[in-house]
Amino acid sequence: MRVYYDRDADLNLIKTKKVVILGYGSQGFAHANNLKDSGVKEVAVGLRPGSSSVAKAESAGLKVLDMNESAKWADVVMMLTPDELQRDIWNENLVSNMRQGAALAFAHGLNIHYNLIEPREDLDVFMVAPKGPGHTVRSEYERGAGVPCLLAIAQNASGNASEIGLSYASAIGGGRSGIIETTFREEVETDLFGEQVVLCGGLTSLITEAWETLVDAGYAPEMAYFETLHEVKLIVDLIYEGGIANMRYSISNTAEYGDYSRGPRVIDSETRKRMKEILGEIQSGKFVTEWMSENSSGQPSFKAMRRRAAEHPIEEVGEKLRAMMPWIGENRLVDKSKN
Ligand code: NAD
Ligand code: MG
Ligand code: MG
Repeated sequence: MRVYYDRDADLNLIKTKKVVILGYGSQGFAHANNLKDSGVKEVAVGLRPGSSSVAKAESAGLKVLDMNESAKWADVVMMLTPDELQRDIWNENLVSNMRQGAALAFAHGLNIHYNLIEPREDLDVFMVAPKGPGHTVRSEYERGAGVPCLLAIAQNASGNASEIGLSYASAIGGGRSGIIETTFREEVETDLFGEQVVLCGGLTSLITEAWETLVDAGYAPEMAYFETLHEVKLIVDLIYEGGIANMRYSISNTAEYGDYSRGPRVIDSETRKRMKEILGEIQSGKFVTEWMSENSSGQPSFKAMRRRAAEHPIEEVGEKLRAMMPWIGENRLVDKSKN
């Protein structure tokens, strides 16, 4: 595995470019502000007219352009709109407006890897994918650190795509902790697997099933919330800091014995089989085909699942309990008025 740092990157390269960030959500907010603070003078945010993000970007002192103007103006177009809209944006705004020899960049390889976007041959196509949420990409940069980034090249028309990508990654703070070389395929397949099986899908199912088990057995919903959700953070902080062994060093022997003897009964060889099945659906393109057809029909089941999940009683209990712990809300990662 090759890892690059700031000393390997030529930061001046990206400073000579006009960079447009399409979208000002979680990642767009972080990339645009970090580039600006790294001394990239010509950075703009590309948005739809009337987008609620226009005011947020302008109040951060960023220039805002509409989508077509952005594409005509920029040397580097970083696509930070939702993955499911990128194909349409490419077709409507980029393919006929981007300059000859410009660079098209992504923070996630989905549209390129599954051929939803087939970029013009004169373009460089690279990926700089921070391994963390946009809010952390910004907050780490502000304290002088940075979130590690993945770097991958799909098209190298100029012969300079790696150097530009490296320079970009360095400007958003990636070179402070490490810029790791990978491929679009590896990034996409591991990213989807991780979010489906562990980070988002696996974890939220584990929490809610466990919460319901306690509540169904007659325990107070508040107690169940503390034990199955609130304390996840305390445990994850220990794992994050020093691995699983670090966490096990800190917990009681009783907890550690329960961990070894009960954990494998919850997640067993049957679960492992289903993990492999899910990986297969990612590799074959089945998952992405399903997700794109969900989008072309207006996201009916996505919206229904989102609504049902938001109405789950664990959310109500959580809101009440978090109000008793006001320190949780201080220094929020998510502030919906700014990012
Ligand atoms: P997001 O949903 O937070 O923000 C997307 C933004 O796009 C919106 O805020 C809006 O400003 C804009 N937008 C929406 N529709 C648009 C349209 N039709 N035309 C123009 N602009 C439009 O998205 P995000 O989570 O920042 O994801 C952006 C990219 O970054 C995706 O490719 C995602 O996979 C990748 N990524 C995200 C994270 C993360 O932490 N969220 C981490 C790594 C990579
Ligand atoms: Mg992802
Ligand atoms: Mg306990």
